[in-house]
Amino acid sequence: MKVRPKQMPIKILATEVVSKIAAGEVIERPASVVKELLENSLDAGATQIVVEVQGGGVKLIKVSDNGTGIPAPELELAFHRYATSKIGNLDDLERIASLGFRGEALPSIAAVAEVEISTQTSSETTGSYMHLRNGEVVRRESRARPQGTTMTVHRLFRYFPARLKFLKSVNTENSHIAHLVSQYALAFSEVKFSLVVDKRQSLHTAGNGDLREVVSELYGSEVAQRMLKVEQNDALTKVSGLISPPSLARSNRNYLSFFVNRRWVHSPLLTRASEEAYRGLLMDGQHPIAVINVSLPAQELDVNIHPAKAQIKFCHEQAVFSSVHKGIEEALARTPIASPKAVPFSVSSGQWERPRMIMDNEPVFAVAQLPTLELPVLRVLGQLASTYIIAEGPDGLYLIDQHAAHERILYDRISTQWSQKEVEVQGLLQPITIEFSPREEETLKGSKEFLAEFGFTIEPFGNRSYLIRAIPALVARANIIEIISALLDTLAGQQSLNPCEEKIAQSLACHGAIRAGQQLSNEEMRELIKQLEQTKQPRACPHGRPTMIHLSAHQLEKEFGRLA
Ligand code: ADP
Ligand code: MG
Repeated sequence: MKVRPKQMPIKILATEVVSKIAAGEVIERPASVVKELLENSLDAGATQIVVEVQGGGVKLIKVSDNGTGIPAPELELAFHRYATSKIGNLDDLERIASLGFRGEALPSIAAVAEVEISTQTSSETTGSYMHLRNGEVVRRESRARPQGTTMTVHRLFRYFPARLKFLKSVNTENSHIAHLVSQYALAFSEVKFSLVVDKRQSLHTAGNGDLREVVSELYGSEVAQRMLKVEQNDALTKVSGLISPPSLARSNRNYLSFFVNRRWVHSPLLTRASEEAYRGLLMDGQHPIAVINVSLPAQELDVNIHPAKAQIKFCHEQAVFSSVHKGIEEALARTPIASPKAVPFSVSSGQWERPRMIMDNEPVFAVAQLPTLELPVLRVLGQLASTYIIAEGPDGLYLIDQHAAHERILYDRISTQWSQKEVEVQGLLQPITIEFSPREEETLKGSKEFLAEFGFTIEPFGNRSYLIRAIPALVARANIIEIISALLDTLAGQQSLNPCEEKIAQSLACHGAIRAGQQLSNEEMRELIKQLEQTKQPRACPHGRPTMIHLSAHQLEKEFGRLA
């Protein structure tokens, strides 16, 4: 018999409960507060915005702008649910031109934190100050200040232990905030942004309207110089921005920024449109850097899908898709492109190529790193599509995925070295300089010691530049910048108190391994198979995918109708 859960009679929830539930939808983590406050500042026409955070945003978030300000008589109203100055009627909802429109942010923030606001409009001689605790005004007075608004949010989620527990480390929350501010800086290059994390300047943009300059601030001047301009004007849409040439790729999608009418969005459609434009130009696991804004009439768009407003729906998806696709394709066509198939394994992609200590005529696999007493059971016959090794075994045919196989080999060795605390380190004669994005830097600060255990020596070198002085020897041949950026990405999603070694080893193995599309010599293939045979689980890569397909002699005979 099914036990009926104990229920209370149906009743309408108290306003206080409703507002806490709703606040939870808008404010998920400290970065959500920053997002809402930034959007308000931008909607208020600010040309200068300073964001300050402390303790990952839980202790303090302060956003100051020089926008219109809020007139004193409207200040209390701004903290009421569904109170907004941005839309007035249903028609307005059909064509939203501002970033905000739901009138939910300020009440939501005030429901989960302590808030102070000081604001002054251009027509006022003195501004106003208000302090709210638990959504209630505890102090209200006149206070002069320059035109604009400053919102200070203290002790976020103090009375929401469940939310607090769900938050990641301070560094992870900082990295989310840094990423978010970076995105708005890209979308609004004419606005001067400044981000101060725990009293240290993390990001600063000039606000002169030059997108390339913002990219330079975030991703470094080398990247900025090489980015290609996108400009595509179609009947419905206008696509503009900057994209990377194929030689300048990244190992994750963190460098894809899409804006629709300058709203930062997560759009699978736009991601697909751009990745398809790069099809055949990037190797497996590589992603472009892109900053793309799509402008289209507001009524062509529904932004009212989710409280956090990061999702949108296009009325004419196909038209948007093809404009973005075409815009990127044409920008790419304007540059000479080298086929990625022609890139030898030892050459990393793009500008990051630095002098190496390993000679180029060395084989990809250092032969005899492991004692190989037995002859390999498999005999290499050849390579298929520069991706699979064809081999013969005592019982039929084997097709081996070269990337997956190498991944397995590296993973086993990295894990063994790590668990025995004997990580083989390769010092770099000439250190590599990397400029991290604000987000990456925040993650790095929390995981430097952990990375050191894996063999990375990374030293600060002013601003967001760092020197890589040593790397794990096992991945010394791969693109170091790509590996470190992938590692930081992996670490960003974890509790830094207990980072998962397995994930790190996987990431190192994946990005250190040879790629599909890489031509291998017979000797290299033989060595790879020999090393694969010595791993604990030669038949699966660390992610669990098969490294090989086996066609048994029996299967072959059956397929060829040789069995009676
Ligand atoms: P929404 O942005 O959806 O209108 P909010 O709760 O975020 O709702 O803000 C409520 C109102 O408060 C806004 O409509 C705006 O009039 C005013 N406001 C909030 N922040 C600012 C700011 N930084 N500068 C000027 N006005 C602001
Ligand atoms: Mg708002």
